[in-house]
Amino acid sequence: MPGFTPGRRYQPPFMPFKRQPLKKRALAAIELAVKGPLFGCRMCGNCLLQETALICPMECPKGLRNGPCGGSTPETCYVDESRPCIWYKIYERSFQLGREALLLEVLPPMDWEQAGMDAWSGVFEQARKIGVRNLVTHLSSGEPGAVAKTLDSVFRPVRQPAWWQGDSKYHAPAYSEPVSELERRLKAGEFVVTAEIAPPLTVKTDKLKYNIAALKNYVAALNFTDNASAVPRMSSVACSKIAIEEGAEPVMQISARDKTRVGLQSEVIGAAALGIRNMLCLTGDSMALTPGPKGRMDIVDIDSIQMLWILRRMRDEGKYLDGREIKTPPQYFLGAAASPFASNMKFQALREQKKVNAGAQFFQTNVVFEADDLDLWLSELAKRDVLEKVYILIGISPLKSYRMAKFMNEKVPGIFVPERVMQRMEVAEQKGNAEEEGVQITLELIEKLRNKPGVNGFHIMAVGWEEIVPRIIEEAGLAKPLRVEE
Ligand code: SF4
Repeated sequence: MPGFTPGRRYQPPFMPFKRQPLKKRALAAIELAVKGPLFGCRMCGNCLLQETALICPMECPKGLRNGPCGGSTPETCYVDESRPCIWYKIYERSFQLGREALLLEVLPPMDWEQAGMDAWSGVFEQARKIGVRNLVTHLSSGEPGAVAKTLDSVFRPVRQPAWWQGDSKYHAPAYSEPVSELERRLKAGEFVVTAEIAPPLTVKTDKLKYNIAALKNYVAALNFTDNASAVPRMSSVACSKIAIEEGAEPVMQISARDKTRVGLQSEVIGAAALGIRNMLCLTGDSMALTPGPKGRMDIVDIDSIQMLWILRRMRDEGKYLDGREIKTPPQYFLGAAASPFASNMKFQALREQKKVNAGAQFFQTNVVFEADDLDLWLSELAKRDVLEKVYILIGISPLKSYRMAKFMNEKVPGIFVPERVMQRMEVAEQKGNAEEEGVQITLELIEKLRNKPGVNGFHIMAVGWEEIVPRIIEEAGLAKPLRVEE
């Protein structure tokens, strides 16, 4: 097992795409011979070890380079239970060493032209530019600040190529007028409700239109999932366009799992041209969950934080990832998922801060069943000055049956159903009253959550039970005359 990467399972290093000159191949072989045993290095070509407490993040089976997914746990990786969640380990060690601030830097996606190549020549080149004498003087000064600054001046230009230039700062949106109705309502201080509709499995749109019509007057916007659980359905962009035609405001969900960097940029330009103004950036459930033959499971081209960084720059700086100018940049209100209960709340709060820094303007959280524990997550966000920079919509899911409660608790990463809720559902199921009990549990939860400071609304995920949403909104007293029918 490599010395610095806990519980690593061997994964082969990447190979260069093209045959390299002998000198480059020799340098890569030496780097692998050193960093392989020490860190389990996979030769990604753009080393991030400085930022990740010397644990190689390429162990993550999703290939995430900016932190854990919403399914992270202290125990094992949800995608491959034979290994630990490597991002949990990175966060744990970073907090122990007081290096957690480094985790806020938005790190670039892999440059596949560099994969399999050495990262050292870049480091040597940078050291040469600074000057060996300067380096030695600063590193031997013994001042922690000077040492850290010198190391950063050597490694930062290598890990942050000119086409990326990620940092740890908050980047406020570069516009003032709301670009969507959802944003306008939130900015106006309204307590909003959004709801999720599962896209159809066929090309028939009757049920989709029925659900849109049934919900649109109750909610500020409707989310359309993007192949949730890696199961293909009608695309989110198509559902969003249909929602606009039906007089509703959509939130288009985008799963990084199914996108390349090229496809992502193309899709958001197209979606913005179609009038879609709310976009929710997700990494997406792992390909390991798909029922069919699996696509590649160990790498995503971009993760949700990189997606936020790219989309924000397209909108605010009018630039594609490759630096080309976008003459008329797209406009959108950017959202992200938050997962309060996935692991340690301190870790989760840091991850949410990173998303806000990268460009997230609103959060829709994973499903919450425990009102009291949410306070801890909100207070961790408050400590990080995040609450005034992002709108938070708490995820609510009405339970339809005891089976659903059990499935969510045991199978859905990042969701925990408390024992007392499980018991209530079990008893109700025996009495043939599960649906009504599920509604009552939801109403009680809404009552406890609605006045918490930092909560700006709810996001209702009815998982195929969309017809219950209007009743919940009415009975919870959240209904407002949102739209007037013509
Ligand atoms: S981050 Fe990349 S270069 Fe660094 S140890 Fe991991 S695979 Fe190797």
